[in-house]
Amino acid sequence: MTAYSHRYLSSYKRIPVDAKLQWRRISLASRCRCCRAPTTETREHLFLYGEVAAQVWGAIEVWFPNLPRWNVANTDLEKRIKFWHRWLCRTDKPHASSIIPCLVLWTIRSERNGQIHRGALFTAEIVLNQVTQHLQRLTTAGKLGKKQWKGCTIPETISTSAWREKARKQIKLISWVPPDANWIKLNIDGQWSEAGSGARGILRDKDANLLRCFKTNISATSPLDGELQAISLGLDMAGERGQRIWLEVGRLETVDLLGAKNHGAANLRHRISEVRNKLKSIRCKISYIQKEGNKVAKCLALQGSRETSCIYFDQHTAPALIKAMMRMDQLGLPNVLLYRSERD
Ligand SMILES: [Zn+2]
Repeated sequence: MTAYSHRYLSSYKRIPVDAKLQWRRISLASRCRCCRAPTTETREHLFLYGEVAAQVWGAIEVWFPNLPRWNVANTDLEKRIKFWHRWLCRTDKPHASSIIPCLVLWTIRSERNGQIHRGALFTAEIVLNQVTQHLQRLTTAGKLGKKQWKGCTIPETISTSAWREKARKQIKLISWVPPDANWIKLNIDGQWSEAGSGARGILRDKDANLLRCFKTNISATSPLDGELQAISLGLDMAGERGQRIWLEVGRLETVDLLGAKNHGAANLRHRISEVRNKLKSIRCKISYIQKEGNKVAKCLALQGSRETSCIYFDQHTAPALIKAMMRMDQLGLPNVLLYRSERD
């Protein structure tokens, strides 16, 4: 693109404006097409200081905040082109600034010819519109990306919504945090599926020692129902152990619902009331943890049978895998969450 811009900027001398035709002794009464009071059409007039050109350049200069002010009294087109070139075409790689002056010259010329040959209107708005449409196509096609617009103020008329930055993989470390002294922590996992639902809960103290955990199959109507049932069972299990319980759940929706004043969806009102009544008698705080941080509770689902009755474990009877995973939490080893995020 830069090479093309070089060639185009240097070929402007051969453009057959009226003055050039007169110079070639072609008899012609020159009347420019760009001014309300037409005057002789020279290259400088057409491309630089005629009404259309002056308005177009005035509008476009705003796109280049780093471009020094041009002395308008200087009407030498060659100097002006060198000036643009010196300030705007500084990068080797294609850049919007190296394309735009070239695109403006080309559009002025083609719109001026359209006026002569097709009687089309030749105004600054039309030229600017053509230039931005062309830039829009290049931007949408990804030829002009963020890098190519760097340092320029992108005009509002150009939409950059087509820039789809490739999402990149991010890693987040999620650790299970033990409760304060005098508190116990209850991690809950309620799972729901067409095939069958389950509820799990695990109760640990400030040193991440297992106090008790449970797992059971349940009959639930939704993931939220499953989690509410798991909380209810977990609070029953924790009941006799302490009055300060940090309840950690795997659904933000549950945290919001239990903190809200309303009763929630009609079909779950009895569940919500049941859990709220149990929470009334204790001091409780509720938080959300991503599933990667709640792995022990999730892992309980893999243990044991399809029995419908509730199975309890303590630190002696807990399966080896559960013990190993709790040990990781005890050591403060984080779990890894991989996710994709947009670039800044
Ligand atoms: Zn004019």
